[in-house]
Amino acid sequence: MVFKNVSDFKNRIKKILITAEEIDAAIGRAAKKIDSLYDGKPLIIVGILKGSFVFMADVCRRVTVPCEVGFMAAKSYFEGTQSCGEVKITLDLHRDIEDCHVVILEDIVDTGRTLNDVAALLRSRKPASLTVITLLDKPDRREVDFAPDISLFTIPDLFVVGYGLDCGEYYRNLPYIAEYGE
Ligand code: 5GP
Repeated sequence: MVFKNVSDFKNRIKKILITAEEIDAAIGRAAKKIDSLYDGKPLIIVGILKGSFVFMADVCRRVTVPCEVGFMAAKSYFEGTQSCGEVKITLDLHRDIEDCHVVILEDIVDTGRTLNDVAALLRSRKPASLTVITLLDKPDRREVDFAPDISLFTIPDLFVVGYGLDCGEYYRNLPYIAEYGE
C-alpha cells in the first residue's frame, strides 16, 4: 500500500462509525455475557488473527471466569477490498479442545466463510460448548448460512478499519472503527 503523504493516509479515514467509548461499553456487556454463560467454568478464548487482537486483549481483561487464550489465523483471499471466497487455516491451536468450553472471538463477519469454516473445524474436535462472538457483523454481505451467537455491532456494507481491522496492514491501531475509502 502506497500513500502519497501523511494527509493521504489520514484522508482515507472517511468517517468514524463506532467510537472508542462505544466499543468499550460493548466490550463490558460482552464480558458480562461470557461470565454469565460460563458461570466460573474454565474457558478457552480463541482469537482469529490478526484482526481480533485488540478485541481479544480487551475482552480477556474484562472477563472474570478462568480463561486460557489461544490463536488461530485464517486467510481469506482478497481482491482489493472484496473477499473472493477462499479460506485457508494458516495457524491452528496448539492444544486439544475436546470437552472444553470454547469461545471464538472474531473482528468481523462479512461473507461468513471464515467463521463458518473455523467453527466447523473446532466443532469437529468435540468441545463441550462453542460460542462465536464477533465485534462487527455485516449481514447484508452474507454468502453462506452462518450467524454468530453474539454480535456487538451490526454495520452496513462498508469497508471498515481500526480497532484491529486493517487495510493493507495499516490502520489496525486506530482506537475506533471507521469507514475507509480511497
Ligand atoms: P468473511 O468474508 O470470511 O466473513 O470475512 C473474512 C475476513 O475479511 C474478516 O475476518 C476480515 O479480516 C476481512 N474483512 C471483511 N470485511 C472487512 C472490512 O470491512 N474491513 C476489514 N478491514 N476487513 C474485513
